[in-house]
Amino acid sequence: YRILESEYVISAVAPAQYPELEWPEVALVGRSNVGKSSLINKICNRKNLARTSSRPGKTQTLNFYRINNEVHLVDLPGYGYANVPKSLKSTWGKMMEQYLKSRAQLRGVLQLIDIRHSPTKDDVAMNEWLAHFQIATAVIITKADKISKGRYAQHVKEIRQTLNIAPHIPTIIFSAQTGEGKEDVIELLDHLWHY
Ligand code: GDP
Repeated sequence: YRILESEYVISAVAPAQYPELEWPEVALVGRSNVGKSSLINKICNRKNLARTSSRPGKTQTLNFYRINNEVHLVDLPGYGYANVPKSLKSTWGKMMEQYLKSRAQLRGVLQLIDIRHSPTKDDVAMNEWLAHFQIATAVIITKADKISKGRYAQHVKEIRQTLNIAPHIPTIIFSAQTGEGKEDVIELLDHLWHY
């Protein structure tokens, strides 16, 4: 599969603003700063499709991107910073729950985890939540260029164990800097969107 066209559609805070098209959709979740925007830019071969910033606490919206005029990619609001309340009663939780529970065309979620760090309580809770709602999930391990390849296996094992994920859940090692794992991510998206 090749991503030839990518276009920003809308930043939504409520279902009324979601695109009405019933195109297959895949969403990205992860802590703020984990590299969601960088992954979107890399797989779309764009510099600034999704805004990237080294500053945490960006606007909390659901950002929809139209890919090849046939599917959507959705960047969900990041979690894990002090200014983002954790409880499901919070604005963040309500927005996430509204989207994940009701979006009929949602085909799967990519959960991003930084290769350097053990998953946080928020990461574990999010993973359990996705499993509870029986949403197809894959784990993308980001910023692979930050550690040596010799340490990959140990970090992947630690991440899988901490998340306590089932053996059938795939993990992909990715770097927006080097492009490592880019084709694997695109193949996974193709599978989720189209099969
Ligand atoms: P987001 O908040 O999840 O959208 O994260 P961003 O994509 O904005 O990235 C947060 C910071 O991490 C930025 O300074 C990026 O340049 C940096 N970053 C993201 N991906 C990578 C990567 O694969 N390698 C390295 N070295 N830095 C990355």
